[in-house]
Amino acid sequence: PGGDLADRIAACTRVVPDFPTAGVSFQDLGPVYADATLVRDTAAAMHRAFQGRFDSVLALEARGFPLGAVVAQRAGTPLVLARKPGKLPGTVDSVQYGLEYGSDRLETQSGALTPGAHVLVVDDVLATGGTLEAAARLVERSGARVSGLATVLELTALGGREKLAAHEVFAARHVT
Ligand code: AMP
Repeated sequence: PGGDLADRIAACTRVVPDFPTAGVSFQDLGPVYADATLVRDTAAAMHRAFQGRFDSVLALEARGFPLGAVVAQRAGTPLVLARKPGKLPGTVDSVQYGLEYGSDRLETQSGALTPGAHVLVVDDVLATGGTLEAAARLVERSGARVSGLATVLELTALGGREKLAAHEVFAARHVT
């Protein structure tokens, strides 16, 4: 990733110690989302990293939504939302996963990801990799393929990339 983009993201990241639980250094990207140019440029970098290799975007609740939407707009692809449990009407596909703090599920509406689709998964932060790994399972379960996984930040010390070794990962900024 371009050093300039990473530096601009760094300048817009607030580190909040012991949030939401003791021992977690929470990376607050609020100022990134507040900067329209930075959102646009980050989405452009994600698009470029996988250009021509995806035909759908899967955005993860909640902070993957705004970025995934911009990437899908740029690429002219459908946007599919992966939501926390109980938010989507009708039949859903669901996967469970462990988090840096707690455990959760992600759901998509059945049929939203079409068999044979090439899907770029977008979220804000790659920490342990549990969330993106679960999202990748959701994609594959629907018969679609994972083109790649894209995040704003990757917390490299947590080793999430090892859990995601089967996939190509792009992070606009790496935090050691
Ligand atoms: P993980 O499944 O551990 O890779 O966690 C990734 C998800 O949890 C992302 O959707 C993030 O929004 C959130 N997350 C986990 N750890 C952090 C952190 N240190 N700072 C900000 N967000 C985090």
